[in-house]
Amino acid sequence: MFSWWQRNRRRRNRQTPFPTGWRDHVEGNVPMFRHLKPDQQIELIGHIKVFLAEKHFEGCGGLELTDEMRVTIAAQACLLLMHRDTDYYARLKTILIYPSTYFGLSSENDQNSESRLGESWEAGVVVLAWDSVLHGTQNLHDGHNLVLHEFSHQLDQEDGVADGLPVLRLKGDSLIESRGRYAAWATVFTREFERLVEHSRRGKKTIMDHYGATHPAEFFAVATECFFEKAGQMKRTHPKLYAELKRYYHLDPAPWETHRYRTPRKAKADD
Ligand SMILES: [Zn+2]
Repeated sequence: MFSWWQRNRRRRNRQTPFPTGWRDHVEGNVPMFRHLKPDQQIELIGHIKVFLAEKHFEGCGGLELTDEMRVTIAAQACLLLMHRDTDYYARLKTILIYPSTYFGLSSENDQNSESRLGESWEAGVVVLAWDSVLHGTQNLHDGHNLVLHEFSHQLDQEDGVADGLPVLRLKGDSLIESRGRYAAWATVFTREFERLVEHSRRGKKTIMDHYGATHPAEFFAVATECFFEKAGQMKRTHPKLYAELKRYYHLDPAPWETHRYRTPRKAKADD
């Protein structure tokens, strides 16, 4: 796992000041941030500082890299790391940002993902189009978020395989607890993936993008987007899948949707 030296460095990173301008970028560009509780916001900001200290960002295709881009991407990537021991996407070294999808990147989901997955795994690189990043984060409830999608692939690949099964064992888990996590995940994800494949084949409308039916790895990425952006709907229509993702991400975003769509009185009755 991570060395004492690395832990120490990360602790120092988390203690460095977070510039006001950076917080403005998070609040302005990542609406999910507003839904976090104050202690969760503090934890996320700590993660962002470590992420920015460790990862190399590069503007491509003539893009001039700004702090807004780095902070907006880091905030969303780190949302997937909350409340558990994390190694901050250890194998990921570089984030390449292109100005727009025009440069050979698809908009919401990464087509040709399997070849891209392989490339990004070996090279330790995530490639993003800035226009898609912004569109994904600012439209909170459309179920599409490029950064969450791509970084969930990174989590999936931490065990070396892009198969829709990330590392589930938590620090302190016994072997039996760990086995229980994997068994529950496999049962739920297999059933839900097959369900989406079937619905996709029949052209049936689903809350998850049919792109998730192309591969179990894509299913995990699409389910992650849906978990954060259509949480209330997912909880109602796919309760077991929602419960697994809630257990994995240690967050419960269902009320985030309630806040937006329902009156406070009704939201309270449902809580
Ligand atoms: Zn993908």
